[in-house]
Amino acid sequence: MDEKSKVKQADDYEQQQCPLCHEKSLILTEREIEVPYFGNVFLFSMTCNSCKYHKADVEASEQKEPAKYEFEISGEDDMKVRVVKSSEATVKLPHLATITPGPASQGYVTNIEGILSRVKYQIEASKEIEEDEEDKKKAKNLLKKILNITWGKEKQKLIIEDPSGNSAIISDKAIKMPLKVKVEK
Ligand SMILES: [Zn+2]
Repeated sequence: MDEKSKVKQADDYEQQQCPLCHEKSLILTEREIEVPYFGNVFLFSMTCNSCKYHKADVEASEQKEPAKYEFEISGEDDMKVRVVKSSEATVKLPHLATITPGPASQGYVTNIEGILSRVKYQIEASKEIEEDEEDKKKAKNLLKKILNITWGKEKQKLIIEDPSGNSAIISDKAIKMPLKVKVEK
């Protein structure tokens, strides 16, 4: 893309209205990347310059079926395994954490280390405001567990369920199965 078209696009994007503060200061970006063994993925993001509203998501360029992925993290090398997580995905780390979909949920392309560091960040943040000693201790133990998983000293199951099919764990070791989608009334 040349400089001129880049500037033109930026101008167009700034015309967008923010869904939160309604200022015309929302910048949209869209990018396509290739994820081996999954296909092309569009990365979308919107960031408001006024209120700092931020939303990012991913979408596979091909229509995918609802899917569930299971993976056992068992070594340091697994940290590099790529993960595509859409905003509609539920990420489960049994006995550790669950990332649920919702309005504040983001979509991104990362790796297992990236998923663990997001969980770590959330536990650290909640530990800061936690006043109960027992819960503080619990958070401390979870952080220790994450560190052990990162170093390959402790095994951990990772499950990703996505009714949109836009999520994946990219590894031969990952078990993919169809996800039964509950119909909401
Ligand atoms: Zn805004």
